[in-house]
Amino acid sequence: MTVFRSGFVAVVGRPNVGKSTLVNAIVGTKVSITSPRPNTTRSQVRGVLNRADAQVVFVDTPGLHKPRTALGERMNESATSSLDDVDAVVAMVEATGAVGPGDRMVLAQSARRVRAMARAADLERELHHRGDGPGAPGPEGEPTLLVVVNKIDRVGGDGVLTHLMAVSDVIAANDQDDGRSPVPVEYFPVSATSGEGVASLVDAVVSRMPEGPRYYPEGMVTDVAEAFWVADLVREELLHRVQDELPHSIACRVTEWEWPRVRCEILVERDSQKGIVIGKGGATLKEVGTAVRRQMPDGAYLELFVRVEKRWQHREDSLDRLGF
Ligand code: GDP
Ligand code: MG
Repeated sequence: MTVFRSGFVAVVGRPNVGKSTLVNAIVGTKVSITSPRPNTTRSQVRGVLNRADAQVVFVDTPGLHKPRTALGERMNESATSSLDDVDAVVAMVEATGAVGPGDRMVLAQSARRVRAMARAADLERELHHRGDGPGAPGPEGEPTLLVVVNKIDRVGGDGVLTHLMAVSDVIAANDQDDGRSPVPVEYFPVSATSGEGVASLVDAVVSRMPEGPRYYPEGMVTDVAEAFWVADLVREELLHRVQDELPHSIACRVTEWEWPRVRCEILVERDSQKGIVIGKGGATLKEVGTAVRRQMPDGAYLELFVRVEKRWQHREDSLDRLGF
């Protein structure tokens, strides 16, 4: 009988490299919103891949970045903690542009995590094979860092190669700094938007999962509460329609869910922003409402409210209330 594999995979990477786009492509539905602006994903979102032979839960994380606000700090904590208790780590960089300090931090952290996984696996084997030394690795093989170089549709073959080499140099330098044996790495050139390379990445991920049960019912693609999902849709539709200065000032939260009536609050930081979100004669808000309703089950009655809460990104009490 073939084994059923299951496990959790963290997808980490600097903001905007395409983590959410990749998870959506893998899962096949929109579980996480994407946008050309950094820091669109504010807390962990899970995408569940169901196959006949496996179930893999992808934890899409907020991008790691240098925090400037209390919100930024919480987002970083959330991304870092997602590395605990996973069965594999996918570190993502983009083929466009150079490998920057943010990428280096992501690669270093992921490598460290993979090393810790290897140590835990060794220990496990020693415990179970006491006397006859460490045994062979399980069917999932040695813990390996899976590096995805995304957006290969935007550069030529040479560009991808150069980037792969730059990343492997960073990882090698990292190994030396840590003074340990090199972390096993596998590379996957991918285009999350066109789907190129995604299937082989998925196969590699599945083959690295331990034997295990389904954690979620088949057919369930995300464990995001519906309310959270609707709030995120509202924010996504707004981001498509407002100017550059606004995105970071917007937070959305569903305050009432009495199906079919759903009330969603849009938080901004200044009065001037409130006007922008509402639009001329309420036009922007109306468009957003229509666009979101189209993506909700039939019959939804969505009410949108805009509220000013000064400096909410910097206030711990606001963040608590918003659930960050
Ligand atoms: P995240 O912050 O890492 O979750 O990044 P997102 O998934 O939100 O993607 C950021 C931006 O990059 C969006 O505009 C995506 O459409 C775009 N993007 C993601 N993957 C690709 C890709 O493979 N090719 C191209 N050309 N754009 C991509
Ligand atoms: Mg994202």
